[in-house]
Amino acid sequence: MSTCGDRSQSGSPATSCSLTAETPRAWFDHMIPRCLETARAEKAKGRPIVGILCEFTPRELILAAGAVPVCLCGGSAQTIPAAEEDLPSNLCPLIKSTYGYLISKTNPFLEMADLVVAETTCDGKKKMAELMSERIPMTVLELPQKPDDPDALAHWVAELRKLRRELAARFGVPISDDDIRRSMALMNRERRARRKLAELMQWDRPPLTGLELLAFKSSISGQEADLAQYEAAWQFYRSQTATPTQSPPPVRVLMTGVPMAHGAERPLEIIEAAGGRVVALENCVGLKPILEDVDESASDPIEALARKYFALPCSVMTRNDRRLDLIRRLAREYRTECVIDLVWQACLTYDIESARIRRLAREELGIPYLKIETDYSPSDTARIAVRVQALFETVRR
Ligand code: SF4
Ligand code: SF4
Repeated sequence: MSTCGDRSQSGSPATSCSLTAETPRAWFDHMIPRCLETARAEKAKGRPIVGILCEFTPRELILAAGAVPVCLCGGSAQTIPAAEEDLPSNLCPLIKSTYGYLISKTNPFLEMADLVVAETTCDGKKKMAELMSERIPMTVLELPQKPDDPDALAHWVAELRKLRRELAARFGVPISDDDIRRSMALMNRERRARRKLAELMQWDRPPLTGLELLAFKSSISGQEADLAQYEAAWQFYRSQTATPTQSPPPVRVLMTGVPMAHGAERPLEIIEAAGGRVVALENCVGLKPILEDVDESASDPIEALARKYFALPCSVMTRNDRRLDLIRRLAREYRTECVIDLVWQACLTYDIESARIRRLAREELGIPYLKIETDYSPSDTARIAVRVQALFETVRR
């Protein structure tokens, strides 16, 4: 028996229902062992395993090369001490955790990876990848950072063409345009399925919590079995009679900022335990990468991929106006009552950009704003909870 919200470590988020082991939620509760089993089985069949570190990497190209794309982002505090032997302690925990897994050889996906694709995003991740490349085969995509500059897009297109050639040469497979189109169609289906599920949060009384919704994703993308489960989850939740009435009703939260890798969901747990409902999760583990599809009808599939991924509103871009546009849109569609901006400690790009998000929330959207700056240690949980409760009191007043 699995109970909605049972991932909570910091209290009891409002739960919407009880689920049996046969439900889609139970499927995703076993996501890591299942992905591991899949990766081992596919590797045994000869399929290469390719690790990715960021949402800018088009999984479509990896799938088109016959390889298995696996997310390697670390969400565990336990691997950080090992990482700090090489990395500065005042570095983003996501970077340290990812690197710590490598050093301590405790991420089985990383251990079986044939290649890691890294990108020039933030300085910390870029330089960590440099160290990583001393221990594991790696290719680096150079990400230009002016999102509205046609020359920058042209450079990104050229980088993706290089990645296509590199994957084909490394794994000894031709990658045809049709191969890429097939993987584009598969990833579009995955994005649509996850988007449909997320749209249930637009209900006045959403049928699941933000934490439950966050559980619906896999470390390995493009698995048909997952697509069936997303659809089953949507069928299941849309037929629910919404959450039992809570008094006072949960505050509708738009959460933005840094991604919460698997295992690092603590900030969201705190928010929901304090009486909030994260109805719109804007970050890279939420809506940001799944709102746009790739144009399957484009004559040049690489250019179509480049256009989709280059539009991702990450704080490493300058100016990153698209993030503000996205927040405006989500605030309207999900009728959010406040904005909570999560910044991992020492993440300079999201930290600095928070000034613009605060102004947008307070001055333009007219809703309260709170920035949470934290890391993977639970030591500040009570302090954050107090600040979140104060924010919700402001909203309710
Ligand atoms: S926040 Fe930016 S750097 Fe981090 S995973 Fe998302 S796109 Fe990549
Ligand atoms: S959270 Fe910030 S510092 Fe950490 S990897 Fe992402 S962009 Fe870089």
